Amino acid sequence: MRCPYCRTNDDKVVDSRLADDGAAIRRRRECIGCGRRYTTYERVEDVPLVVVKRSGAAEPFDREKLRSGIERAASGRLDTATVATLVGALEEELRAVGAEVSSDRVGLAVLEHLRTLDPVAYLRFASVYKGFEDLADFAREVGELQKTSAPKPRR
Ligand SMILES: [Zn+2]
Repeated sequence: MRCPYCRTNDDKVVDSRLADDGAAIRRRRECIGCGRRYTTYERVEDVPLVVVKRSGAAEPFDREKLRSGIERAASGRLDTATVATLVGALEEELRAVGAEVSSDRVGLAVLEHLRTLDPVAYLRFASVYKGFEDLADFAREVGELQKTSAPKPRR
């Protein structure tokens, strides 16, 4: 590390401890040239999340793109705050998977959440994501939805 006082490129670490709740390491360094002390922090660089498309092309995760896609599907159904919470939860969920996720996985994660939040937004998103081509596709999906959300039979 270059000394901020005399610009010598030689130092020794005199103290090293965890900082920022363990997210960083704080080191006290002493310059070999002038003997003055200064502090450095070492932390993990933000790991970017990469989305891999079906074509194999990879692009950085785009929170805004995800939000606008969900907002379009949820228009008039879910308020902005609910969508924002959903986007936050999705991002956390996807980052937990690893540094790379497939676009399919992203789409399915959205569907999974929308399914429980709002059936109309779910169907709208599914129609774009799954590339529905005709009414039969919709009918099938609605059938699936009714199957899973149907009330449990009384005993
Ligand atoms: Zn120095």
